[in-house]
Amino acid sequence: MLLKQLENCFLHELGPKKKPVSSETCNLLGGIVPHASYIFSGPSAAHFYELLARAKKTKTIILIGPNHTGRGPPISIYPDGKWLSPLGSIEIDAKLAKEIRKKSDAISLERTAHQYEHSLEVQLPFLQYIMNDFKIVPVCMMFHDIHSCDELAYSIVETVEDLKCDVLVLATSDFSHYVPARQAQVIDRLIIDLIIKLDEERVLKLIERKKATICGYAPIVTLMVIAKELGYTDVKLLNYYTSGAILNDYSKVVGYATLAFMQPPKKSKK
Ligand SMILES: [Zn+2]
Repeated sequence: MLLKQLENCFLHELGPKKKPVSSETCNLLGGIVPHASYIFSGPSAAHFYELLARAKKTKTIILIGPNHTGRGPPISIYPDGKWLSPLGSIEIDAKLAKEIRKKSDAISLERTAHQYEHSLEVQLPFLQYIMNDFKIVPVCMMFHDIHSCDELAYSIVETVEDLKCDVLVLATSDFSHYVPARQAQVIDRLIIDLIIKLDEERVLKLIERKKATICGYAPIVTLMVIAKELGYTDVKLLNYYTSGAILNDYSKVVGYATLAFMQPPKKSKK
């Protein structure tokens, strides 16, 4: 049932319209994926996972999502154990989680922030559909100021450099919430253009000025900072649509954008 649902996301007319084929042909740091549901945002997210199938695979995936529940500390990393999805269990990379935590006192290792949070767990079946034998580091962010994003981003960058490991970093967010489709498209496009330019300060300013209702902009900004530090500056919009395209009602929509962060062509990094 779930496998069929995932397959439908890939074959959907708003999705990549093809099943993922595994290869190792692109260098991917990570991406931005929506988290509404498989029916609403699954076809958009499938564009990223189709690309992931073609990317060099890492052993660990850092998943960063916004805190929708208000529970737990400002930046919470799930410490250890396993997460379960209908497709099986995934181990937490406890060593990496601990190392990231060590880099900043603003980060907590704990479970409460993750208890009723859905934005990360909806990514797990997609990841299991594409990859096997990987661990995760789930991170939940409550605040959206640049300092929180910098604390987490630099802690991740320093850890990755210290341990000399490769990670995939996923930031999850839905874009504009419950506004007319035209308005969502205009604001979301402005923000997407600034994400592509890796201009995180203007992203934060624009969101504040336009009062944009993007739930996961802290995870997005964190990924932008990491990408710049690690040299993955080729950012591409893979897909955008609004819930209007699913419901055929454009009066109040939610925007879904999927982006990939890659190494620029030619410049090979080692
Ligand atoms: Zn959300």
